[in-house]
Amino acid sequence: ADGHFQHDMEKLQDSFAGFREKYRLIKRIGEGTFSTVYKAEDLVYDDHDNSWDLDKELDKWTPPPLKSFTSQASETPDYPSQSQRRRKPKYVAIKKIYVTSSPIRILNELELLHDLRGCQSVCPLITAFRSTDQVVAILPYFRHADFRDYFREMTVPDMAIYLRSLFTALHSVHTHNILHRDIKPTNFLYDPDSRRGVLVDFGLAERESVDSKPCLCHDGSAARKARLQPLYNGEPKSGYAREDTRPSRRANRAGTRGFRAPEVLFKCTEQTTKIDIWSAGVILLTILSRRFPFFNSADDVEAMIEIATIFGWRRMQVAALLHGCMMETTIPTIGKSGYSLESIILWSTNRSDKEKISEEERLAIKFLSRCMELDPTRRISAADALQHEFLRMGLD
Ligand code: ADP
Ligand code: MG
Repeated sequence: ADGHFQHDMEKLQDSFAGFREKYRLIKRIGEGTFSTVYKAEDLVYDDHDNSWDLDKELDKWTPPPLKSFTSQASETPDYPSQSQRRRKPKYVAIKKIYVTSSPIRILNELELLHDLRGCQSVCPLITAFRSTDQVVAILPYFRHADFRDYFREMTVPDMAIYLRSLFTALHSVHTHNILHRDIKPTNFLYDPDSRRGVLVDFGLAERESVDSKPCLCHDGSAARKARLQPLYNGEPKSGYAREDTRPSRRANRAGTRGFRAPEVLFKCTEQTTKIDIWSAGVILLTILSRRFPFFNSADDVEAMIEIATIFGWRRMQVAALLHGCMMETTIPTIGKSGYSLESIILWSTNRSDKEKISEEERLAIKFLSRCMELDPTRRISAADALQHEFLRMGLD
């Protein structure tokens, strides 16, 4: 282990009384913007609680209730007995949340994870500890491979299984009216051998429509039609203030570049769980096109350009207007009607003619187009996705 790891380990072990007796740190497995994650052996797990035996019981998780995460470091530690030490080792992931994260953010992540306990394909929270400003979350360790090492080899049935697992997690999360907000490969841990996956990282997650301001996209169909019809008819758009003095729109734009849904880019103030569906679509597009990252924008404007290049400016204008935004472009590479997803996939996999798209692939692309609907209200829900022919591939 490197010096950094040794130092971190010492610090972690010294912050929490009894930590050394409870966990044996093995290695650092992840380092993100908001946390560092370590693999550790759980030395004192409760033998009667096999609820997080991941290999066997993935879909039956009922983790123990969250111990107060305000528990003090001075708590009496449980020391492992000799017999406990001889059992099959159990591994945990210890997520050390950076002290620079706001307490509200940390509380939010832990609370949402607590609400989602027992949900299929969602990594449960075993417990959490706090010592002054340091918070650590303890999760069962889930064996997984690096997305970049397997996505190019995936067959269409492999993709269906991968996505069924991801959409199972999304369905659970969305049923709880929670938006994950950061769906991307590094937050969906997948083991290609067992073909199982779990959703992690609720650091940006939030409850749907808490204190959101109304957005035009939630208008009834009549108001919507009146607003959008002129555009569909090819009539010029009504004028807009060139020197707009209204305050700029504020909307949650949290998420990862390249995975942000169009309504996030258009600063929709009433974002829904459909933003996660778009991001899952980007994952599928990545797999089908064998390109990672598929979108590679530096900022939101570039991201809009990338999406507009595929879908064309006409549809992008309609999508913008849905949220009360105007979209104008003179960029020559953005055509009026863009490209079909099929041709994008053919092009990015260096194939030339349409003959080479298989029937299976065509089904996957059909599903992809449902996930990448620019209009969130028309985009498929996780519940409907699980009923889609593509995700049911091989089930019947
Ligand atoms: P961050 O907020 O820093 O992105 P994550 O929760 O996404 O934190 O974890 C970062 C990385 O740590 C993940 O991408 C994954 O590689 C690893 N990781 C997180 N949780 C687990 C787990 N339960 N089992 C195995 N590895 C994990
Ligand atoms: Mg993450």
